[in-house]
Amino acid sequence: MLRKLGYAGAVALVGAEADPPYERPPLSKAYLAGEEPFERMMMRPKEAWTELNIELLSGRKIVAVDPAMHEARCESGERITYGKMIWAAGGAPRRLPTKGGDLAGVHVIRTRADVEAIRAELERARDIVIIGGGYIGLEAASVLVGMGARVVVLEAQERLLARVAGPALSAFYEKEHLGHGVDIRLGAKIEAIIEKGGRPSGVRLAGGTDVPADLVIVGIGIAPEVEPLIAAGAEEALGGVKVDEFCRTSLPDIYAAGDCAAHANRYAGGAVIRLESVQNAHDQAAVAAASIAGAAKPYDAVPWFWSDQYDLKLQTAGLSNGHDKAVLRGDPDSRSFSIVYLRDDRVIALDCVNATRDYAQGRRLVATGGVCDLETIGDPGSPLFKPTVRKG
Ligand code: NAP
Repeated sequence: MLRKLGYAGAVALVGAEADPPYERPPLSKAYLAGEEPFERMMMRPKEAWTELNIELLSGRKIVAVDPAMHEARCESGERITYGKMIWAAGGAPRRLPTKGGDLAGVHVIRTRADVEAIRAELERARDIVIIGGGYIGLEAASVLVGMGARVVVLEAQERLLARVAGPALSAFYEKEHLGHGVDIRLGAKIEAIIEKGGRPSGVRLAGGTDVPADLVIVGIGIAPEVEPLIAAGAEEALGGVKVDEFCRTSLPDIYAAGDCAAHANRYAGGAVIRLESVQNAHDQAAVAAASIAGAAKPYDAVPWFWSDQYDLKLQTAGLSNGHDKAVLRGDPDSRSFSIVYLRDDRVIALDCVNATRDYAQGRRLVATGGVCDLETIGDPGSPLFKPTVRKG
């Protein structure tokens, strides 16, 4: 984006992983299934970075930042000076805080290396336990059960996808996973990973039940990677770093974008939130780059997400928190339907399952103020968005 906007200064892209920048969404989907080669996930071929005159500084983890000196220090001790910095470090997977959580055979899904470690063990894994029924857990469950494994999902909450979806959608996905043979235990409290010969042999639940497991995947959320900024005095919010509408942190010349950046969001009624989504990472990065390139524009993007499980494409637009009405469009049994969330009779969000047209129209509706025909909103035969609707 910096180069697109004509920024001519030196640019270096620093990353902790050895690989050049790649897309993470396939990690819990096609890459886990072995259906997508890594080369297809790379954001650009390696030479393209050279052509853009962008220096790749891979394999370097920044552990300290000195805003006064405009200097970042890597774990190796190497120092990197900067004029401006965009901190886009995302988050680290939360580790299971119980006994056995660090055994070989207990995995997370965040990097290419994580997924390759899982794939290397899949051949001899019969019983797979997935801890956490969020996007990571459920996308992994759909891939692994499709590869013939016995899969149990243990979720602490009383429903799946509790952080990101309403109860009706949770119920739909629970039924789908059960129908595909996934065993789901809700309200699960993990007491320990049971060890045998240095590897897991099961997961012990509070109450004494043991669930057999020769491979465990933990998808229990992330912790924003912001320690060096907070240690340098940056304002913190929601476990991340606070940014303004131009993605500026409270530290001079340091911007932040993505999962780690807490910001006031119009679609959350102006509340400060952190959005863990590809959309937000791309859009905030573009805002930070535009600010640096002298073309500042405030962040104002409609939040959207997607998730692929089995043959179901879930697409979400807007944020449903704070809705006072939820309207179902279509029949979940047909496996193509939407849930429209309203507040004060305006559409604030949609969850669309195999309903791409609703999603495209709904996203526009959310962006333009959410006024729609309330009489026909529940009728999947009527379009959601009509350019002629009354002005609100
Ligand atoms: P998540 O969406 O936060 O879901 C984690 C779930 O695990 C929550 O329901 C959580 O409940 C539960 N949990 C926490 N501790 C637990 C425990 N000890 N035992 C059982 N359950 C527990 O996180 P995630 O699925 O790990 O995903 C990680 C990140 O990757 C997120 O940022 C996510 O958005 C991203 N991701 C996105 C996609 C997509 O957009 N399609 C796909 C994959 C990953 P509590 O709320 O009570 O903690």
